[in-house]
Amino acid sequence: MIGKYHTSITNKALGDKLNGYATNYVDKGNTDSDKLRDKIAGISDGYDLSAQHFNKTSLENCEKFLKDAQEVVVDDFIQAANSNGDDEYYEQAFYDLGRLVHNIQDFYSHTNWINYNNEELWNEDVKKPNLEKNQELKTGNYTAFSQYIDKINPFYIYDLSSNYDFYYESDVDMSHYGLNKDEPNTIADRLYEDKYGVSGFTKAADLARSHTLKKWDDIDAILQEELDKDVYEDMVDEISSFDSTQENFDENIDKYRENFNSDMKELK
Ligand SMILES: [Zn+2]
Repeated sequence: MIGKYHTSITNKALGDKLNGYATNYVDKGNTDSDKLRDKIAGISDGYDLSAQHFNKTSLENCEKFLKDAQEVVVDDFIQAANSNGDDEYYEQAFYDLGRLVHNIQDFYSHTNWINYNNEELWNEDVKKPNLEKNQELKTGNYTAFSQYIDKINPFYIYDLSSNYDFYYESDVDMSHYGLNKDEPNTIADRLYEDKYGVSGFTKAADLARSHTLKKWDDIDAILQEELDKDVYEDMVDEISSFDSTQENFDENIDKYRENFNSDMKELK
């Protein structure tokens, strides 16, 4: 997804759960995922950079990123809950939550999940996805070369539309170019609409929003389980009264990035 769509999906998903200051931090972590495109020692050398976008890497690596990032976020909130209301722990937790939900949102726009016209959310298992028997899950085999070839080939769209099942409903390699539903009017968005009468982008965004909300509910349930009742309740109060400023964020962003990275490294 493009940054502004990640932001609107996140705000719609979490708007009833977190206040505006908190979702703002989640948005900052989310859009920061797209800014970290290169390996930088101590900042982004702790995880597979491509895996955070479900693109240019194996589905297994993407699943590993998802699981690890969730562990980091749960841990963050546990630390925040035990910090006696130290804002910086909450800032880190919301930033990291943004990094996590970016990943789950990209799943719906960068894989062929929605191309089966599936109404369900993905079960977060790449080896045994909750697709029907024989349906294959795949992500873009996005080499610069395959992308380029697809772009300059005038027959590519025709080929995709006349062989929709072959391309979208099998494990045949595709480039990101043909799968991408990051914004309205991409090839995959239009072909999906031709077949099912709904925009593929809208469909991907709807499922991404539901999954973002589910992710928060899952994390909340884990925290409720792991924390003592009074510690959990204090944390809920801290979250609902959380506030912060743009200056805080600008001042601390490198620290949040470093901390996320070192936590991910520990799980490698
Ligand atoms: Zn992304």
